[in-house]
Amino acid sequence: MPAIVKISNLDKYFGRLHVLKNIALDIEAREVVCLIGRSGSGKSTLLRCINFLEEPSHGTIEVDGIRVAGGEKGKEHRQLVHDVRLKTGMVFQEFNLFPHMSVLENVIEGPITVKNMDRSQAIKIAEMNLDRVGLLFKKDEYPMRLSGGQKQRVAIARALAMEPRVMLFDEPTSALDPELIGEVLNVMKNVANEGMTMLVVTHEMGFAREVADRVIVMAEGEIIEQGVPDALFKSPKDERTKALIDRYRAAEESGREPDQPPQKQPRLYTLE
Ligand code: ADP
Ligand code: MG
Repeated sequence: MPAIVKISNLDKYFGRLHVLKNIALDIEAREVVCLIGRSGSGKSTLLRCINFLEEPSHGTIEVDGIRVAGGEKGKEHRQLVHDVRLKTGMVFQEFNLFPHMSVLENVIEGPITVKNMDRSQAIKIAEMNLDRVGLLFKKDEYPMRLSGGQKQRVAIARALAMEPRVMLFDEPTSALDPELIGEVLNVMKNVANEGMTMLVVTHEMGFAREVADRVIVMAEGEIIEQGVPDALFKSPKDERTKALIDRYRAAEESGREPDQPPQKQPRLYTLE
């Protein structure tokens, strides 16, 4: 399988803070990669550099044949950034739906304004993607009348409606009440099974274990370890990976996410 995402020599500085250190990462078409690591290790920044929500300080990002060098300026660069963004869909922890728009309007907005799609075609694609996340029946509802899990499923449909080649998820279930996490993970699993290439930052180790082809561990701006989930969870090599996994195990046993309140419901996906 050829790589659809190729990241090389990626560095990111915020002022003098060196947040990503010479990252190299290739992702194959249809591969599902989970990215784990402690808070502040650079996971979000890495995702945000892939679609240029953050401009890389140095290095190159290539998505589906569009190759962009970081740290450049000018018209040509802006065009390449635009092209790369069209290839990537992103889902954030906080959903980021437009509150004044209905579910359907949220989903047709990108195709109409960014891709100049005509409205009837955009509606067709939006309805198909709302159906894909099981929320076509909510198309005329407003976001404030949806549960957190439903909002996140709409956000996934909205990203899919742009027909990206790669989906980036940044802790998509971290803002949800525990009983709503499973429905979002299930939608993500279906999208993965349909063949989407996905890079997922998550604390849901059970999901990583079941759905990911590969798990990547970040610490202090570097990829410190990676592998197939089974091997990585069973026999981590780096001490920091061991500590991270122990932390997740302890959290699971106590029924808590690390740094989060107690769970009300049994977990759908578990590490063991
Ligand atoms: P993670 O997602 O793994 O928690 P982040 O990528 O958000 O980590 O952050 C990595 C480091 O970069 C942290 O030290 C964070 O404080 C810093 N950082 C992130 N975004 C910014 C920003 N916009 N300005 C300055 N520092 C930032
Ligand atoms: Mg983050």
